[in-house]
Amino acid sequence: MAINQVSRRRRRGNLQVRDSKVLDSGRFPHRLSLYNTPPNDEVSLEEFESSGYDRLRLLKAVEQARLCHPKRGPQYFKEIKKACDKYMPLGDSGARNAADVYEERRKDHLSHFVLRLAYCRSEELRRWFLQQEVELFRCRFENESINDFLNAIQNLKYDKMSDEEKRELESQLKDCGFNLSIETVRETAYYKLPFKRALELVRQRKVLLKGGMAYVPEQELLSIICSSFRQRLSLALTHACKALPALEEDERLDPILRTMSKNDLADEQQLQNRTGVVHPSDLDELSNTVMPLCMRNLHVNFKADHHLKHWGRLQYGLFLKGIGVMLEDAINYWRSEFTQKMAMDKFDREHVYTLRHMYGKEGKRTNYTPYSCVKIITGQAPGTGDHHGCPFKHFDGSHLVKELKSTKVPNPAIQEILKLVKDQHFQVACSRYFAYKIGPLPENVDVPLINHPNGYFTKAIELNNFKAGIVNAGASTVKSESLPINE
Ligand code: SF4
Repeated sequence: MAINQVSRRRRRGNLQVRDSKVLDSGRFPHRLSLYNTPPNDEVSLEEFESSGYDRLRLLKAVEQARLCHPKRGPQYFKEIKKACDKYMPLGDSGARNAADVYEERRKDHLSHFVLRLAYCRSEELRRWFLQQEVELFRCRFENESINDFLNAIQNLKYDKMSDEEKRELESQLKDCGFNLSIETVRETAYYKLPFKRALELVRQRKVLLKGGMAYVPEQELLSIICSSFRQRLSLALTHACKALPALEEDERLDPILRTMSKNDLADEQQLQNRTGVVHPSDLDELSNTVMPLCMRNLHVNFKADHHLKHWGRLQYGLFLKGIGVMLEDAINYWRSEFTQKMAMDKFDREHVYTLRHMYGKEGKRTNYTPYSCVKIITGQAPGTGDHHGCPFKHFDGSHLVKELKSTKVPNPAIQEILKLVKDQHFQVACSRYFAYKIGPLPENVDVPLINHPNGYFTKAIELNNFKAGIVNAGASTVKSESLPINE
């Protein structure tokens, strides 16, 4: 996609597609794509951004499903399908309206290239994107006809073996690799491809090699197609990275892509909606019930030490602002704690301005938003005497176990959380903590992937209210004193 093809105008679907023949032979001949050709139509800035975020949400759901179901059982596929239907549906053309099918495929295509631009800028981002995209591709391929895909995607030249050729080679096919019976060989479709494309199977001596070609049974082809997709995408990401300096000059796209690459899916609207509903006198109770571990840790230590260092004040202060502690209440709250160790006028001199600044009442009057998990996890690591950061990332094992025990997380759950932490899946560990702390969750409610402490808080309140049967208690109107305690 050329940068100058991203326009500020809102695009009103300039579909030229009117029948399925155009779909079959046009830009998107199959519902799945290897994303070889970038979009070349005009795209509005709004569409550019929203499609990118939808794909990001989908890839985060893929990541969570894979982490929660490493054996890729039925629940894994169910969760990914649900996320696909929600964020990026890709139905079969079948009897559906061709224009709808076209729009779905177009969004899938565009969003892939938007995230490709956002996630090419570092080795770590490239690795993450590559992993989730290949996983998504593999999942979407479930129940797909390989033959239909190969017929539609012209640049994968894997020839199907003719019946005659198979008859000639059937005894050799039977003897190599998979211990198939002769009947199974006859029923299985085989594909011929250059042996370099099937090196893993060649290494395992699982395919017949003849004249530089590997004869691969259909059921093994998916892994080869996925590996080809991975190689192409990896190369494309490296090329995109080289083109980044030109993109960085574009003042419209660069900030969008940088924000996107921070993986920050905070729902700003949701955060704003909570203003003015929590009183500091409720914080002790809330810290035990609906605050994430990072904020509970800050709260507990603040109450114990009557002091928080700079990063702790920022992390906790913005969180409180986000959950709805009003400025005057916040000043009184911080003052009541700090002045147990500090003179009142010193507090007023040193901290009131900062608190007002945090609420957008001083300086540039920026309305600062609470920190997301990514910002906390990748931000300034806590030093001695600091209490900010993410416990799942920054606590050592014994400290984390102690904290989890103090919040009454059962032992098996602690072991599960420790394993996730060991594998560096901090937000997934937090999701498991959420599930144990707030659970049991109502039927049909999935454990959310935690990506924002304020999102955690809001979701926890909603679920507690739901379980307590408080109907229609919108997050924006819930009074904290009405919160049921989950102990
Ligand atoms: S994952 Fe996020 S919400 Fe959970 S403890 Fe860490 S920073 Fe807080």
